[in-house]
Amino acid sequence: MKDLTQPVLTCLDLEGVLVPEIWVNVAQKTGIGELRLTTRDIPDYDVLMKRRLGILDRHKLTLQDIQDVIATMAPLDGAGEFLGWLRERCQVIILSDTFYEFALPLMKQLAYPTLFCNRLEVDDRGRIVDYHLRQPDQKRQSVIALKSLRFRVIAAGDSYNDTGMLAEAEAGIFFRPPTAIAKEFPQFPVTQTYAELSQQLCKAGDLRP
Ligand SMILES: [Mg+2]
Repeated sequence: MKDLTQPVLTCLDLEGVLVPEIWVNVAQKTGIGELRLTTRDIPDYDVLMKRRLGILDRHKLTLQDIQDVIATMAPLDGAGEFLGWLRERCQVIILSDTFYEFALPLMKQLAYPTLFCNRLEVDDRGRIVDYHLRQPDQKRQSVIALKSLRFRVIAAGDSYNDTGMLAEAEAGIFFRPPTAIAKEFPQFPVTQTYAELSQQLCKAGDLRP
């Protein structure tokens, strides 16, 4: 018998699960190759972000310029339908390391789901001068907090920064992870399509198909 006092809540990563990688697309669309750097090139997130903000400043790019680029991006094929399907079956919260100011044009295309992420600091000229993380290790901390609110938390993500959240959840599922990461964390089932992900979520959360 299911414990009806504990409703299911699904935590989803954003980039790589519902939308493409934002910085990679900004690099492509602005032609600024340096912006392609990821935590794989510079493992220290703070060093990486300061580098990115320095590059934007050198190219005199404002937040509006970046938002205009992001507005030309679209969610991954089938992401909107998948998210709609899931939201009919359980509560859903998106946990992302991106920034509200970047995610907004994409959230609009996904009908504004609940998103926990971070803020950018912008000066009067519209230049991004700094970034502020809500809390360290927020994905894992969010799952811990939601469990303390007596939700049965299940989670899906695609990369290293999701593994804390996947481990903390009652069930963690990979969606299109890089091969090396999937190998390093064999405890998380790997899915490649939204149909497979839906199936795993149904199994983990006793959701109706
Ligand atoms: Mg991701």
